[in-house]
Amino acid sequence: MADTLPGTDDIQARALRALGRIGLDRPVGDGLRARTPITGGKLVDVPVTTPDAADRAVAEAHDAFRIWRTTPAPRRGELVRRLGDLLREHREDLADLITAEAGKIHSESLGEVQEMVDICDFAVGQSRQLYGRTIASERPGHRLAETWHPLGVVGVISAFNFPAAVWSWNTAIALVCGDTVVWKPSELTPLVSLAASHLLERAASDVGAPTAVHRLLLGDREVGERLVDDPRVALVSATGSTRMGREVGPRVAARFGRSLLELGGNNASVVGRSADLELALPGIVFAAAGTAGQRCTTLRRLIVHRDVADELLDRLTTAYRTLPIGDPFSDGTLVGPLITRSAADTMDRALARARDDGGTALVGGGRRFADVAPDAAYVEPSIVRMPEQTDVVREETFAPVLHVLTYDDFDEAIALNNAVPHGFSSSVFTRDQQEAERFLAADGSDCGIANVNVGTSGAEIGGAFGGEKETGGGRESGSDAWRGYMRRATNTVNYDDRLTLAQNVSFL
Ligand code: NAD
Repeated sequence: MADTLPGTDDIQARALRALGRIGLDRPVGDGLRARTPITGGKLVDVPVTTPDAADRAVAEAHDAFRIWRTTPAPRRGELVRRLGDLLREHREDLADLITAEAGKIHSESLGEVQEMVDICDFAVGQSRQLYGRTIASERPGHRLAETWHPLGVVGVISAFNFPAAVWSWNTAIALVCGDTVVWKPSELTPLVSLAASHLLERAASDVGAPTAVHRLLLGDREVGERLVDDPRVALVSATGSTRMGREVGPRVAARFGRSLLELGGNNASVVGRSADLELALPGIVFAAAGTAGQRCTTLRRLIVHRDVADELLDRLTTAYRTLPIGDPFSDGTLVGPLITRSAADTMDRALARARDDGGTALVGGGRRFADVAPDAAYVEPSIVRMPEQTDVVREETFAPVLHVLTYDDFDEAIALNNAVPHGFSSSVFTRDQQEAERFLAADGSDCGIANVNVGTSGAEIGGAFGGEKETGGGRESGSDAWRGYMRRATNTVNYDDRLTLAQNVSFL
């Protein structure tokens, strides 16, 4: 691992080469600045989408929907299969752009592209499995069934920390479901979105699909608000902070649109007295410090049985002290930069509040590279032992701060896990089967994701992804999440020669 940082020029050249290989010229325009958190420097200026252009994009996607919804689903799957092929081909290019713009270490960026490939494979299979049920009718000579139809234009609003994968979870599934997509990515990652969007455009032209099945809008929240308020957008799938969801959800509901909200998380792992600490240790470190604490599923609270707390904390603090922090392009780096300096300031404030609440910082909390890259924000992941679950512990701080609480009784651990506004990811490390099952039971973890002997982050695409309470309640990616992108019609067919009314009603 290098203990220096690359220059902004090198990162810019690498990003432009990746864009070039994907088939894009250097973007020309202004209004939005693509920057790299690796140095805090500017990469290029890109054009922002004007309100008129946004309106046109929605209109085009709305028109394309009329064609796309009647294209047979397995043929829609061919578009997604081609997208998957192009993603495989440009895996390194897209990963370079993700590392350059989001600051993720390169192996995690490659992992993000792998998730995109995986969801394309999943969606291609799904294109032949948009099953409805047949239901026993109470009337003679009647058939009751449900059919699933395409919904319309899906507006995808996404966050900076998974700048491409979240788009692909939504888009691959929406496209096979017969929907068209208008994407408003994070204003912090415009180059990744230009690249991903261009690959889809290439895929559409390769298989002869209308290119307007997808449109990209670049800009900040105001551009996103156009999707939120547009009645032609049938579903708004919004990923980001709970603050954002609190604004988006009611506005979409006010026009009776559908929303799928994937919001913040304040995720916990319980470590039981019987836990295999050898196994738990890497799971905890990856979940808490990986992606510099900037995953929605990042581990933020560790709830440890009092008998194993000292040993676990000793081992954790030792592991934290040697975490390689630095250039995310460099082999061996495990912790890259935070997205902005203000994210590091937020972390400092959270640490100060934890101290005021009686917390003891066991490790981390300092800054690195401040002299050579004053516009970047490299922080040392921190572990803070807390006397109780105070307000700062109950909030999501989007940075690598792990709060540690101890417990004596397993019910107490479950209560602590659940006593936060979010309900996203959770896990238990234990060799006690009763504890594991209790954690997964109806009165166990109240989260959308509940794991055993696995950390809170790093979900596979095959499961439905999302969480409860202030995490928004949405589910995307695998399992039957596709249903959220379709409308259901219940069909009653009478093949009798008499009309029978339900519930034995007599009329005429
Ligand atoms: P953010 O809320 O600042 O922005 C997310 C997106 O929403 C951006 O594209 C932004 O422009 C847009 N936006 C913001 N306000 C809007 C509004 N009023 N109307 C329309 N669009 C609006 O989030 P961020 O800082 O980019 O990402 C970090 C947050 O996202 C964390 O809270 C993290 O937990 C969460 N997140 C959740 C998931 C998940 O699957 N649940 C995944 C990734 C990130």
